[in-house]
Parts: sequence; structure tokens; C-alpha cells
Amino acid sequence: MPLDDAEPRSETLDFDPDALRAKYLAERDRRLRPDANDQYVEVAGDFSHYIDDPYVEPGFTRPPLTDEVDVLVIGGGFGGLLAAARLREAGVGRIRIVEKGGDFGGTWYWNRYPGAQCDIESYIYLPLLEETGYVPREKYSYAAEIREHSRRIGEHFDLYKDACFQTEIRELAWLEDEARWLITTNRDDRMKARFVVMSNGPLNRPKLPGVPGISTFKGHSFHTSRWDYGYTGGDNNGNLTGLVDKRVGIIGTGATAIQSVPHLGRWARQLYVFQRTPSSVDMRGNRPTDPEWAAGLEPGWQKRRMENFNVLVSGGHQDEDLVSDGWTDIIRNLISIAAVRGDKPMSPDEAMAAMEMADFRKMNQIRSRVDQTVQEQAAAEALKPWYRQFCKRPTFNDDYLPTFNRPNVTLVDTEGQGVDRITETGIVVNGVEYQLDCLIFATGFEVGTAYTRRAGYEIHGRGGKPLSEHWAGGFRTLHGFMSAGFPNCFHMGVNHSTLTPNFPHLLKEQAAHIAHVIGETEQRQGRTVEPTPEAEAEWVQTVRDTARLNLEFRQACTPGYYNGEGRAGADDGLFANLYGPGPVKFFELIRSWRDGGMEGLEIR
Ligand code: NDP
Repeated sequence: MPLDDAEPRSETLDFDPDALRAKYLAERDRRLRPDANDQYVEVAGDFSHYIDDPYVEPGFTRPPLTDEVDVLVIGGGFGGLLAAARLREAGVGRIRIVEKGGDFGGTWYWNRYPGAQCDIESYIYLPLLEETGYVPREKYSYAAEIREHSRRIGEHFDLYKDACFQTEIRELAWLEDEARWLITTNRDDRMKARFVVMSNGPLNRPKLPGVPGISTFKGHSFHTSRWDYGYTGGDNNGNLTGLVDKRVGIIGTGATAIQSVPHLGRWARQLYVFQRTPSSVDMRGNRPTDPEWAAGLEPGWQKRRMENFNVLVSGGHQDEDLVSDGWTDIIRNLISIAAVRGDKPMSPDEAMAAMEMADFRKMNQIRSRVDQTVQEQAAAEALKPWYRQFCKRPTFNDDYLPTFNRPNVTLVDTEGQGVDRITETGIVVNGVEYQLDCLIFATGFEVGTAYTRRAGYEIHGRGGKPLSEHWAGGFRTLHGFMSAGFPNCFHMGVNHSTLTPNFPHLLKEQAAHIAHVIGETEQRQGRTVEPTPEAEAEWVQTVRDTARLNLEFRQACTPGYYNGEGRAGADDGLFANLYGPGPVKFFELIRSWRDGGMEGLEIR
């Protein structure tokens, strides 16, 4: 269908769609680089101190463990906690969570930078609120409250009892004769488990920019996910008194920088924000929880609210928008409203064209917000994002843009190229050296590198086969949960399944699924459970076929971890390897698969 048929006539628009399309592509093109993911430095070897845990006392020791548990869960973030909670409810005996950090919390254990806050409404983001009897204090929770809730879940479901903190897995090996997993760790443990659940987190491994000279910097430096409050002073609320006499540089302007820059700007003597691509920054609008509203919540409210949000952000219809925030507003405008034109439903092409128009309008609003807020014109121009809204993670913040009006804050825009080099004393961009006492990397996390590299260990399945070998040509799973030849081993997370902005919703569904499969295995007195190679191959094909649905969109996007740093056709972006019809359909699919007797799964 010609685009003109779906597009309102250009004289009725206050923008030129062709000019915007051309601008978006030009901005993408100048950021494309052949090294894609290889541009980043792995946090290993000389760089491994960037992932040391700054939140625990040094010197922790404990005797090695050689015992056996029923289920060993790897990762003490929301995924691991949800899986363990559901298994506990199902009556599973010994459940052990093994966690690298010093406590539960996962993402929220590590990310404590000033201003760290969840962009998703707390009432749907924090899991198990009804089960634990907790209502968050505000519509958008800060990191400290989320960490506290993680501990609450741990206590409520008695998960501290068998947990192992500050423990990193070295290897998993399947013991065929015993039908057990042998788990070895950096604490010399040799534990056994009947089942293993892996919830390592999609963004768990910090990455650094591969900039010449990065190891030469002699000032103080750290990654945002290991914030050094010993140096900066203060906490999650700011108050960074250690920086009042410091020249601070921050590389990166993603969701993390958007939240921490206002605090750095308030406290540093001088702040340089090194930008490669600006984020889209929409309104925040936080507010305290209304006690009357909280008191009136009916049982089952959290599930209903989560599902309402998920349907809306997936483009479906709901009579009411319960969360009603920037996410549902954007996506409702982009998708739902586009789905009907007058009384006649749109064809998919028409809907896509109308969505593009809605996207142009939304991004024009985002760009005018910059003009209205940032006084200096060059900075305002540089802070405008030129790509479609969901090419990068949208952000919501009321303090980020005004920070650039401070006299001690300078935006150093690298026009899509990144910083040139790092020296002993600072950062060079366009031949100018910016002298720094402190350099903060807000450069994000590995996505699309080998799964076992991100996990930090290998999994040897039946016959000693490594999972990295099984997945060398791309993910091979049934529904993202299990692989043939790796019995009693479950995966949680994005890979080969689906993605929704409210990530804990995905984890909740996955936890219920895993608990069901383990429960069924127990009930049928099975020793092992795993998918057949045929069922696995069928799912690989389904994902391959349906993932193409949004390929064109990803290809037109500016590079980032959503589209494999611009290699949108490749398999390594976060949005690659997903079930194309989206989360609502995926949850339906796995539910009816369970109800239909779990076809393609062998319990022996
Ligand atoms: P991102 O990967 O989103 O951002 C990394 C930043 O570093 C980008 O701005 C990137 O630029 C920049 N960068 C990388 N290399 C260079 C270089 N050589 N020179 C200059 N800049 C460079 O990481 P974040 O930690 O910000 O966020 C990661 C994810 O965590 C988010 O996308 C979100 O999903 C989640 N998050 C969620 C929050 C929430 O509220 N729930 C809050 C914070 C994070 P470029 O864009 O050009 O690649």
C-alpha cells in the first residue's frame, strides 16, 4: 500500500515526514561502526576491579559446601527470588539461591548510584506485593526501597536460610548416573542439586568503552553499577559532598546517566557530560502513595494492574488505563490509537504508517521539551534525540535537562562519535582535553556477547557437552526455558522468549512456569525433565520466523544494545531472538502449553 494513503496529507502536518526520515537515517549512519559490540572492553583482567563489590566488607570467608539441595537458583535478583518463592509455595524442600552480591536484590543490589529509581510504576514493578503485604511509598520507587523489598521477599519466603552470598559459580556439570547437577564455585563448593534455575539477569555485566588510553587514567574512576560512595560521599538520595572540589566526567547518557547527572551537577565543582547519542527524556511526575487508595485495594489487584499495563504496552485494548503514565501514554498513542481509523480497521501497513506519524509527533514533543528547558542553544540542539522512540530506552526525568543550565555543567557532545581518547589526566574530544579528577563510566552492560561469558561459567550437559557449543549458532531452547541435553536446567530472562517494559512481569510468568514443570516432574516421580530435540528445533524456527516482524524497525534505528549496535539483522541485539507476537501472546502460549499437557517435554 502506498504510504500516502495512510499518511495524513502533508499540508495538515506541522512537520515534514520525509525530512524526519532522512534526518533519522543520517544520524543512524554516522553512528554505525563495523566493530559493533567489539567496540567495548570486557571487564576482565586489568579491568576486573571495575566489578569488585564495593558494598561488602572485604575478607569474607566460609567453609566450602558439599551438600545437596532440591533446587539451586542462580541469581538473587527478582527472577531468582520469584522462582524460589513459587517453589517454596509449591512445597519444594531445600531451595538454595547462590548470589554474587552480598545480599538479595540483583540489579538493585548493584545499581545504587545517586538518583537510581525505577522507571516502571512501583505497584506493578515490585513483585509479590500482596503476598508480602507491602505497598510501595511512591509511584516510582528509588533503589533503596526496591532493595529493601528484595530482602522482604527473602525473609517472607525463608530464602536466607540456605542462601550463599558472595559466591560465584565456576561450572555446572550434569552427573548422568545420579541425575544431579554438580555445582562448583569460587568458594570451593561442590554442591549438588536435582534442579537448577538460572536467573543471571539480562544486563548483569558492566561494559567499558574501548577508547584508546582507557587504562592510563590516573584519577579516580568507576562504573555506575559499582558507585564509589567512599569517594563521592552521599547515597542514593544524592548529597555527594566528596565532589565539591572535584572535576568530574561522566561518559554515557543512557537511562543511568539521566538519573545520576542531576546529582553530579548539583555537587561537583565542574561536571562534563560526554555524550554520543542523547536519550529521549520525558516527564517523570512522581507522587507519594495515597493511603486511601492503598487501603481500598481489592485482593488480586496487583496481577490485574500488571496485566492491564502489559496489554496496553503491547498495543491491546483495555477499558481503563490503570497505571496511566509515560509508558502507556506513549504506546497507547503509538499503537492502540493507530489500530483503528474511523470505523474501519486499518491494514497492518496502514497501522504501521500511522504509528510512524504518532512517533514523529511524540519525538517532536520530546525535542520541544529540550528547547523549552535548556537555555544555551548549542546544548539544546545537541540534546535532541533523532530516532524513533523505541530505538533506545525512553527515559523519564524532570531534573536532567535543567542540569545543563548550571554554570558548572558542560555538555561535551561528540556528534555520535564517542570520546577520542582518555589520557592520564582527562578526556580528549575534538582535540580538546578536559581535565578530570574523577571519571564515571555510565556505559551500560553487555548484551549480545556469548551467554556463558555473561553468566561467567560454563554448563556441561549430558555427555559433558558445553552449553556454549549447543548455542554456538544461536539460542536453542524450548520457549526460552530449557535445552535438549541439559536436563533439569531452567533459564529465566529475555533470551528466546519475550520482553515487556515491566521486566518482573516476565519473570513472574517464567517463575510460575518453572514451578509448574518442576511440580509435574515431582508428581510423575520423574528423575529428569527436558525438551525433545524436535520440540526445541520447532521453537528455534518459530522464533526465527516471527522475530522478523520488527526487523525493518530495528534496522532503521540508531545503534544501541536493542539492535546489536546497529547489526539489526544479526542475532545479538536484545530485541533479536524474541517471539515476534509479543508478551501477551507469549504468556498465553506457555499457559496453554502447560494446560495442554506440555507437549515436547520428556519426563523420565
Ligand atoms: P546504556 O547502554 O543505555 O547507555 C550507555 C551509554 O554509554 C550510551 O549513552 C552510549 O552511547 C554511551 N557510550 C558508550 N560508549 C561510548 C563512548 N565510546 N563514548 C561516549 N559514550 C559512549 O546503559 P545504562 O546503564 O544507561 O542503561 C542500561 C539499561 O538499564 C537501560 O537501557 C534500562 O533498560 C536499564 N535502566 C533502567 C532504569 C529504570 O528506571 N528502570 C534506570 C537505569 C537503567 P550510545 O547511545 O551512542 O551507544
